[in-house]
Order: sequence, then structure tokens, then C-alpha cells
Amino acid sequence: MYSFRTYGRQKRILVTGGAGFIGSHLCERLLDDGHEVVCLDNFFTGIKDNISHLLKHKGFELIRHDITQPVLLEVDWVFNLACPASPIHYQYNPVKTTKVNVLGALNMLGLAKRVRARILQASTSEIYGDPDVHPQKEQYWGNVNPIGKRSCYDEGKRVAETLFFDYMRQNKVDIKVARIFNTYGPRMRPDDGRVVSNFIVQALSGKPITIYGDGTQTRSFTFIDDMVEALIRFMDYETNVFEMQEDYTKPGFSGFPGPVNLGNPKESSILDIARTIIKLTRSRSTIVHKKLPEDDPKRRCPDISLAKKTLKWQPSTTLEKGLKKTVEYFQKRGARS
Ligand code: NAD
Ligand code: UDP
Repeated sequence: MYSFRTYGRQKRILVTGGAGFIGSHLCERLLDDGHEVVCLDNFFTGIKDNISHLLKHKGFELIRHDITQPVLLEVDWVFNLACPASPIHYQYNPVKTTKVNVLGALNMLGLAKRVRARILQASTSEIYGDPDVHPQKEQYWGNVNPIGKRSCYDEGKRVAETLFFDYMRQNKVDIKVARIFNTYGPRMRPDDGRVVSNFIVQALSGKPITIYGDGTQTRSFTFIDDMVEALIRFMDYETNVFEMQEDYTKPGFSGFPGPVNLGNPKESSILDIARTIIKLTRSRSTIVHKKLPEDDPKRRCPDISLAKKTLKWQPSTTLEKGLKKTVEYFQKRGARS
């Protein structure tokens, strides 16, 4: 599917959260494509091992910084990924999570406005909350609890989207809002509590696989390489035709702000994920059921027609193939955090 790349000219690109799971893969790919990369991270959930192999690359720069504080940099593009993504990490300091999403977005939008950079926000399927519409289209406004334990993340990301669109309308900032659905692959942390890494670590060590609730809740999983391709295609996508149907997409911008769902339209139950991982690892682990966390969404599945039509993108890695690569990574790396 990815026979050629249309994005050409070399750019200087800031990746906030660049030492994290998605960010480190993105930095690597952007360097491979010939760009200069400034990776900015406060190492809350990111780790140096993820990017240590990039340090000797002449196009790579690393800055330890917290995006809740302003920073002065000159770049062409900004990928704003800084924010803990796993529920246990974003609930560890929920006030800080809201700050990262709100103050962080304000600081990065301010930077983009000052240097006229294009800026992409890593938004999330969580902005749909516990959806009552399936599959979720970009036009769906969501069903979000404003006062629950997930709210710091869900509402934080919703405010960030609002800020992005207001900076576009008010200050003509060239924005892109990507709604990322569950993504998995090598460099997930073994201790980050997300379902794929948890199940693989448990299966490899012969410990019981912990399914929260009865396991019938669903997610749709995208392999990291497919997600990185989608993010770059979206960032590079330009059009003079205004492609969104909503009011907020008033003419006057040559870009395509989205929001765009990036995810896998294939829905899997958590029980299926557990069984596939047990099979792939030939594990003797048993399955145990634990209490379902508060506000855990029951179903999640994107409608990706917009991404298909505009970006000519859809995930191409099967769940089995992606999980196999992820298992291999954890086998090599061991379970240290
Ligand atoms: P991650 O936790 O591995 O990476 C986040 C990175 O941001 C880490 O390196 C962390 O140290 C850094 N960070 C956190 N707070 C920061 C701050 N205040 N200043 C600077 N850096 C900070 O998570 P990920 O899975 O790579 O997710 C990256 C982005 O994509 C996040 O914004 C997340 O909300 C979004 N997203 C991820 C998924 C997914 O399934 N992985 C799904 C939807 C959205
Ligand atoms: N989950 C589970 N066991 C685990 C970790 C997660 O059953 O050890 C469930 C969790 O309750 C949720 C789904 O797997 O229904 C995905 O959880 P994750 O934290 O990976 O992502 P999110 O809920 O943010 O989509």
C-alpha cells in the first residue's frame, strides 16, 4: 500500500513526548525520511532507551523539558504527543494530566503561532467517552463523564481540541487534530498497565492474565508502524478544497485540520486479545477476572472513511502479525521497566 511517499522537502520537526512509545517511533521514521528532529520530553513515562540509538544521528536533538512551561524553538512542524497515555499513568497525578493537555497545548500552539509552524495534536478516541454510537464518526460529540477518574485525560484532550480549533479560527494557526485509537507495538512499557503490554508480560512470565470485567468490552488496535504512517500522511496532507462538513471548517485555510479518526475498523474483544496472546506465546497462563475500572468504555471502534478518502490510509498489519512482533520485542527485552 505504501509504495511511495509524497512528502518531500526536509523540515525541522519538534516531537513533544518524543521519548514515549509512539513518539520514539515517529522520531525514528522522520529521521529516516531525512528530516531534522527535535525530541522534547520530561521523561515522565518516556525512557531514554527508546531514543538512545538516535542520539548519534546528526539530525537528532534531545531536550529535557516539561511542556506545561513555555519553550522557544524554531521549527516547521510540531507533533504534540506529550501526555501520559496509559490510565494508570494519567490517573497518577490527574491535575498534572489536565495541565499537560491544557497548558501544554497553549504553549505549543503559542509556539506554532509565533513561528508559523504547522501543529498536530495527538487527540484520542477517549474524547468519545463511553460511546453510544457505533462505529464512532468524527461528527459524534461523545458521551463523557466530566467528573470521573478518566476525566482528567478525556476532558483534557477535549479542551485541547477546542484550543486547537480556536487558534485556527482566531490566529490562523495551521492545525491538525488526529483522534488516535488504541495503538500497540514494541516500546510499550511492560509496567504501563495497558492491555496489550499487560497480557504479553503476564503470558511470558506464566502469571494469570487479568481481564477486567467479563472481557466482552471491545477496542480496536492499530500496530505502531501503521499509526506512524497515518500521522505523517495527515501532517503532510494539504488541500485547497475544504473537506470537513462541520461549521467550524470555514474557508480561509488551505490546510485540512480534521479531526480525523486514526485507528483500526476491526473491533476485538478483550477476551479475544487474551486468547490470541496465550496462543502466540504458547503460555500456560490462566485467565482471571478482576473488577472493571470506573467508566471503562464498553465498545470502541472507529469509522475511518475520512482517513481512507483523504489520506488514502488504512491499517495494513493484522492483529496476529502485530502482536507477534510485540511479543518478540518483550521476549528480547525482558520485563524490566
Ligand atoms: P507514552 O506515555 O508512551 O508517551 C508520552 C510521552 O510524553 C512520554 O515520553 C512522556 O514522558 C512525555 N510527557 C508526558 N508529560 C510530559 C510533559 N509535561 N512534558 C513533556 N513530555 C511529557 O504514550 P504514547 O502511547 O506514546 O502516547 C503518545 C500520545 O498519543 C499521547 O498524547 C496520547 O494521549 C496519544 N494517544 C495514544 C494512544 C495509544 O494507544 N498509545 C491512543 C490515543 C492517543
Ligand atoms: N484491560 C484488562 N486487563 C488489563 C488491562 C486492561 O482487561 O490488564 C482492559 C481495560 O479494562 C479496557 C481494555 O482492556 O477495557 C483496554 O485497556 P487499556 O488500558 O489498554 O486502554 P483504554 O481503556 O484506555 O482503551
